[in-house]
Amino acid sequence: MVKNTLLQVWPIPAFDDNYIWCIHDGESALVVDPGDSVPVLRYLEEHKLTLTGILITHHHADHTGGILQILQALKESIPVYGPASIDIPGRTQAMMEGDKIEIAAPRMSLKVFEVPGHTLSHIAYFANMQANVVEPMLFCGDTLFASGCGRLFEGTPTQMSESLAKFAALPKNTLVFCTHEYTLSNIRFALAVEPNNANLLSWAERAQEMRAKHLPTLPTTIGQELQVNPFMRCDTKEVLESALSISGETSLPTPAHVLAVIRAWKDRF
Ligand code: ZN
Ligand code: FE
Repeated sequence: MVKNTLLQVWPIPAFDDNYIWCIHDGESALVVDPGDSVPVLRYLEEHKLTLTGILITHHHADHTGGILQILQALKESIPVYGPASIDIPGRTQAMMEGDKIEIAAPRMSLKVFEVPGHTLSHIAYFANMQANVVEPMLFCGDTLFASGCGRLFEGTPTQMSESLAKFAALPKNTLVFCTHEYTLSNIRFALAVEPNNANLLSWAERAQEMRAKHLPTLPTTIGQELQVNPFMRCDTKEVLESALSISGETSLPTPAHVLAVIRAWKDRF
């Protein structure tokens, strides 16, 4: 029997500020970046879900640390998808740019993007609209955050700029499932870059209200990030002018040059 109920995506909080996203149809579930096994196994049991696969975006421990314990706790072996270009213990399926994943339960198709920047081997998973997916969904790991982007631990500003450009080309209604609740501190920085961005100012108020109620500020959308996220707005006059004034440069010829300046600024903010 093919389950055709709408897919649901819920955050499983882990550590201080990680979200392990659980995609399910009421019976079968996938989890994205299980850094810790304990909250995942508890969640599956509480919701009577059968785990059928694990999606990994990058090798950092807060995204991979639970894989082996989860596999040990299951009766059957399940596929573990992850980047091809690095060894991740437990990974069974090596993913590269453009790869398609067809999952039977929960029924969904995913496309893989290589998005180097935060790490060199970082990938993201995109689900376009499908019978049971009303809005496209992006699982972007630590590449894009609400109003921010990942730190450049391994990649260059040019790589991150190209990775974010792949996301910017996705449909504006794409739901973006980021893996950390960094939104309020990202907004503080974004306001330093663009103090007069009206969309950002109203988002700051809404996000504060959500966090006051302990609600996740995620998922965000690509359309929203194009309006409020300085790292997605390196091609705008506002962010360029701010980057020129903070750096003292007279010209920053490409969005990647602008990203380099504001990423370095954020690192010491
Ligand atoms: Zn990371
Ligand atoms: Fe992380």
